[in-house]
Amino acid sequence: MTRHLVCDLCCAEVDTCWNYTTPSEVRTPEEAEQKNLFWCEDPDWAVCSLCHSLVQAGSLPDLVENSIAVQCLIVGTSRLPLQHARRERRTVRANVIRVHTMFWEQRRGVPYFEQYPTTHNK
Ligand SMILES: [Zn+2]
Repeated sequence: MTRHLVCDLCCAEVDTCWNYTTPSEVRTPEEAEQKNLFWCEDPDWAVCSLCHSLVQAGSLPDLVENSIAVQCLIVGTSRLPLQHARRERRTVRANVIRVHTMFWEQRRGVPYFEQYPTTHNK
């Protein structure tokens, strides 16, 4: 079992996540390229509880805006000069939309929940 530490949609650190499976026929980088799909060694998407609830509710604008907000915090756009912050936010938005588009195209079946031991228990 692979431990996911970061939500694949918003990049928030998580100890629990929902897993969304991807098409089982895509198991190599070559197959993914042929089918024009995103390749990842662990093909399932790990999704935090907030993103999962937004996905289940079909709240796509909220899902995108939440992911942009989390990633702007990670990047630290609020500490940047205004022009630089705007450029970074546009880059973050473009990346979020690209990743979310792949998620919606690839997810299959019913998501399943996993809980991972916290690093504090080791
Ligand atoms: Zn998330």
